[in-house]
Amino acid sequence: MIVVKSIEEFKKVSKNLNSSIGFVPTMGALHNGHISLIEKSTKENDITVVSIFVNPTQFLEGEDFSKYPRKIEADIKSCELAKVDILFMPNANEVYSKEEELTIKAPKSKSYILEGLSRPKHFDGVLQVVLKLFNMVKPDRAYFGRKDAQQVILIKSMVKSLFLNIEVVDCDTVREIDGLALSSRNIYLSKESREDALLISKSLKKASKEIMKNILEVDKLKLVMQNILKELNIDYIEVVDRDLNHIEKVKIGNTIILVAIKIEGVRYIDNIWV
Ligand code: AMP
Repeated sequence: MIVVKSIEEFKKVSKNLNSSIGFVPTMGALHNGHISLIEKSTKENDITVVSIFVNPTQFLEGEDFSKYPRKIEADIKSCELAKVDILFMPNANEVYSKEEELTIKAPKSKSYILEGLSRPKHFDGVLQVVLKLFNMVKPDRAYFGRKDAQQVILIKSMVKSLFLNIEVVDCDTVREIDGLALSSRNIYLSKESREDALLISKSLKKASKEIMKNILEVDKLKLVMQNILKELNIDYIEVVDRDLNHIEKVKIGNTIILVAIKIEGVRYIDNIWV
């Protein structure tokens, strides 16, 4: 595995690669969710590039940018074990010029709902960095988790509207045995708050059981979930189609149920694709 820390170096290393490139952008503190994306990429491409970059522009003031977990040594080892070919860790000063303004704007109708309601401009920052990384890495395929449903949907729509020649692959959420979705932020959870966090996946599981009983009305499903989550600080429980449009009835094969909860000041999100 080659570890590359500058854009110039990446250009040199990737020059004349006559191979298909799979790309997994991450913010590090890698866990098995990230590894599952890497494994998919190594299966489907000749070369797999992983980036680790904690992108400042997608954090709002007051969010956990400075204390976001950073575990570079462990991440390098995980990437090596997962047979990553190039680990790219660009520097923020190189990625962004001084006082750079965000030039990519996520479509308002899809980025100021759900996560974007309490994190305005978050997705402008996400799309900005993803487009920059795409232009640096020039991948054939890029791998993103369904766990960040709104993110992968917005990235797909950017790729489509800018005619980028990249296949965006959305990958299933990896969970602990008890159902908790893996997240770099899980390390903030105490034993007690982990119990609270577990209710998120429990509520989603309950909703999917209701759907199996043919209860498809969104209002009814939301009520069932609210009941499970009522002691917690719910940010939203929403049911949308896979284009993020509001729906009143679940359409099997075209629905996502999403939850966001705040626990001790940190947001935890999860969803199921039905
Ligand atoms: P992050 O480092 O949090 O920016 O995540 C990097 C990529 O890993 C994103 O595409 C996430 O959606 C994906 N990811 C994060 N958690 C999981 C998970 N539990 N299962 C699958 N993919 C995940």
